[in-house]
Amino acid sequence: MRRLQQGYTTFLAKNETAFYEKIAQGQHPHSFVISCSDSRIVPEHIFSAAPGELFVLRNVGNLVTPENPAFAAALTYAVSHLNVENVVVLCHGDCGAVKGSKHPDHLETELQEWLAEDPYDGDTLEGAIKRNGIRQFERLRELPLVRQGQVTRGLRVLLLFFDIATRRLERFEHGTWEPFLEGHSPDA
Ligand SMILES: [Zn+2]
Repeated sequence: MRRLQQGYTTFLAKNETAFYEKIAQGQHPHSFVISCSDSRIVPEHIFSAAPGELFVLRNVGNLVTPENPAFAAALTYAVSHLNVENVVVLCHGDCGAVKGSKHPDHLETELQEWLAEDPYDGDTLEGAIKRNGIRQFERLRELPLVRQGQVTRGLRVLLLFFDIATRRLERFEHGTWEPFLEGHSPDA
């Protein structure tokens, strides 16, 4: 607990009073990010985003689970109420969820059940993580709310892969993985 208290003390010492008073008026995030709960994956860090910019849902394995009430509520709120411009599935290297799905019989029941729809699929770990990401991306794009957003107001749906050690970020686009850098994608 001391680590948390020390961290909060440091946070307060930054004196961001005016900024927090301003964002207390309301949130206008530009993106909804579906991220893994992995503690090394911090969307706000990766995208240099301040509080108020990203609406984030985290779960083990960055899974798209429309039948899950927590997922459905977050997606609906982000897309229909906050009118985000982008919906992002952010998968990442060394993902424990994907690693665990290789030997599900070694996992606790709760994890087995959570990962049941997404069996390990690939020759390498990165390959399996990316295949898993593509499955989530495809599930997301098929949802009526997302399709409607794409058609009516140009909602953009992205699948990104982040490699921890190198900080390489790639976007899955037209069947291939491309660097996610400013100016790289024609429709960025
Ligand atoms: Zn993960």
